[in-house]
Amino acid sequence: MIPVEHALHIIDGTVVAEHIKKVKIAKSLGYILAEDISAPINMPSFRQSAMDGYAIIWSDSTHYTVTEEAQAGDAKHIPLQAFEAVRIFTGAKVPDDADTVVMQEHVTKQDNSITITKMPNKGSNVRPVGEQVSTGDLVLKKGLKLNEAAIGFLAGLGIKTVAVFKTPKVSILVTGNELQKQGKPLKEGAIYESNSVMLKMALHRFGIKHVKVFHTKDTLKATKKSIKNALAYSDVLLISGGISVGDYDFVKEALGKNDVDELFYKINQKPGKPLWFGKKDQQFVFALPGNPASALSCFYVYVLPLLKKCSGYSDYHLPRIQAKSDTEFKNTSGKTLFLKACLKDGTVSILPSQQSSMLNTFATSNVLLMVPEDVEIIKKQDIVTCINLESYGN
Ligand code: AMP
Ligand code: MG
Repeated sequence: MIPVEHALHIIDGTVVAEHIKKVKIAKSLGYILAEDISAPINMPSFRQSAMDGYAIIWSDSTHYTVTEEAQAGDAKHIPLQAFEAVRIFTGAKVPDDADTVVMQEHVTKQDNSITITKMPNKGSNVRPVGEQVSTGDLVLKKGLKLNEAAIGFLAGLGIKTVAVFKTPKVSILVTGNELQKQGKPLKEGAIYESNSVMLKMALHRFGIKHVKVFHTKDTLKATKKSIKNALAYSDVLLISGGISVGDYDFVKEALGKNDVDELFYKINQKPGKPLWFGKKDQQFVFALPGNPASALSCFYVYVLPLLKKCSGYSDYHLPRIQAKSDTEFKNTSGKTLFLKACLKDGTVSILPSQQSSMLNTFATSNVLLMVPEDVEIIKKQDIVTCINLESYGN
């Protein structure tokens, strides 16, 4: 059995291969950029008016004669003399000879002439070439998470496709003879199977939409075959149940028979003690304990960071926040605890139903309060560490 920090260290030290794909920018939302982007053009690429108004050659005079008009999109060259003005609109090309745009709110117009009521400084309201970025500038760095602003910026540069990190293909293998699908009354001794949909939703929230689910009965032969089938499909395989020490827990042995190498097994934590993590070439396997709250806690603390790592994130652990506990709690287990808790306005409340089989209060938790293995009591007003389940990395 290893301490939590050791297990996390193993996740941190796990080398993942870079899997990259080119996608259209409209398909790149939420992905991590896998290349540095240099500006292919100046932005703006011509001197642009920042206002609706009049382009002039700046002088002491407040009177100008309007000679022409420049609309956004016009390409023509408009010559301009001293004391002349060109009617101009936002985004239009500023005539080469003009150095200033006077906003129309600061002008009174009569026939073909204008009087400037508030003279701007020379150079005002003209966006110079390359004001935002110049051709060749490194404008977005590999590792950036693409949001709508970044994608809009790429579009403005005329870029149609980008290289992003692929998200891993994930499958779930569910073990357990006692499990029943929803839809019919429970048979004697059976329970409704809930881990597959729960883990699927956790993956969906992270952006992994296509998840294949496999099921196996609790025999070594069936488990071995199901692991083989699931591995054929996945970059990361999540197995639910069958990893503990019961006579019908065959997952560990079946993983060995499929040549998946163990990286760790059993962590000094509650819930989730029997968590198993291993690797076969570039594929990763987590065998999660079957108890639903254990499976989900292990997902947040270990699985999600690895998935984020595989997807190009450099900052892949869920954020930890400090908060004040309003609950007293004793830790007599000598284990690190991940307690279902609710954080509001800097104060965290430990919820009832902490057992690993119970999801009822997980449903209203927004953090996991982490009690280190050597901390025996949390008193009211103590500052504690919470894992934020809400900022999921999106
Ligand atoms: P196991 O890890 O297989 O020993 O299972 C531990 C507990 O979790 C048992 O009470 C199982 O019935 C329950 N369990 C296992 N798999 C699931 C599942 N997919 N959905 C809900 N409960 C499960
Ligand atoms: Mg089982």
